[in-house]
Amino acid sequence: MKPATPPSTLWEAIARSGVGALTRELSDAEAVQMTERYGAHNYKPLPVNIVRGDGAVAWDGAGKQYLDCVGAYSAMAHGHLSERVVEAVKDQVDRLSLTSRAFYTSEVALFLKGLAEYCGTDMVCPMNTGAEAVETCIKLARKWAYTVKGVPENQAEIIVCDGNFHGRTTTIVGFSSEPGYKEHFGPFTPGFKSIPFGDADALRRAVTPNTAAFLAEPIQAEGGIIIPDDGYLQEIRSICNNSNVLLIWDEVQTGFCRTGRRFAWQYEDAEPDLMAVGKPLGGGVMPVSAAVGRREVVEVFKPGDHGSTFGGNPLGSVVALTALAEMEIEDFAGRASRLGDRLAKGLLDLDSPHVREVRHRGLLIGMEVMEHVDSYELSHQLLHHGVLTKETRHRTFRFTPPIVIAEDQIDEVIHRVGASLASLTPA
Ligand SMILES: *Cc1c(COP(=O)(O)O)cnc(C)c1O
Repeated sequence: MKPATPPSTLWEAIARSGVGALTRELSDAEAVQMTERYGAHNYKPLPVNIVRGDGAVAWDGAGKQYLDCVGAYSAMAHGHLSERVVEAVKDQVDRLSLTSRAFYTSEVALFLKGLAEYCGTDMVCPMNTGAEAVETCIKLARKWAYTVKGVPENQAEIIVCDGNFHGRTTTIVGFSSEPGYKEHFGPFTPGFKSIPFGDADALRRAVTPNTAAFLAEPIQAEGGIIIPDDGYLQEIRSICNNSNVLLIWDEVQTGFCRTGRRFAWQYEDAEPDLMAVGKPLGGGVMPVSAAVGRREVVEVFKPGDHGSTFGGNPLGSVVALTALAEMEIEDFAGRASRLGDRLAKGLLDLDSPHVREVRHRGLLIGMEVMEHVDSYELSHQLLHHGVLTKETRHRTFRFTPPIVIAEDQIDEVIHRVGASLASLTPA
């Protein structure tokens, strides 16, 4: 193959000045062009090129300031460049970053213990992305079904919910109900059955002797910030208990204080057998995820059953432990609860004729707009007024800013959203 770039350009420039200097020389327009030219078009980014971040604030190359209400799809709980996390990275990269799990490392050891304790559970299988954590839960549940519950080989089924979002692997999109996620990507992995979200009776009816697990998000986040009725989580727990079915909560987005508790299942004490966690576990700097759960289940994995080259690496472990400590020391749960109420109430009090509903638990907030609103126009108005947010399903704009966001920044978000709504074409 011919080299894509003549040998005297990009690589020499990097060797001479470092990547940092090169990226700082790129204009916003050049960055957009280059991305569209060389990158797969699997995302449609807002037309803004972020060059710097600090806490809940981000800047583009022209120096315009934005309040980041996407927060990397709520992975950015700690905000851009959290001081403790950045210090931990700097300290660790001087010593050891990656070994693979072919060896033991003290960093991974402490991470496994720390995460198990934080989650109040027994064992941890470390991965990188949320989708991998969910895949790991699926494999654990199936092997548990065959080797512990006694389901006949290849007959195990997992019950999921309509409107779910669990990631983008082929197995996972196979049980999505979103046509856009799965069209032209089949054939899919069998063994999944989907029922309406928030309907405990539907689970009761769907369970068979071959059911290994029920997998769901305690609040559907990408699905449009859909919060089930009170009592649902607890009822799900008791159905799973009564039918020897594993309960798997996907807390990749709701977990780690986003909803005002460490985990959303804690609102109803609906403790899972397995749980997928990720996003904020990486402290806003790198992917760290895990499947965590009860010893009896996680123990079914034997050497060779599952793995990941980067899953459970020393650098990620140090980042995650620091991220967990920060959540505790800075009372992220209390902050998310208090600031979430403030932001949700503020959005509601705007009393805009364009807003249909504001749904929230903690700092997981969805603002659903009326049918008549052109959501493309609104997202560009928001951008113009310095608010970064994107639409989830059901015409719902997400507000998942970093949990470290300050009170006056919350008020500023409300003010800017108000101005954006006011500048929309009237109904
Ligand atoms: C984001 C998300 C995932 C997938 O995480 P990735 O890191 O993007 O693979 C899985 N489940 C839920 C609930 C999520 O919000």
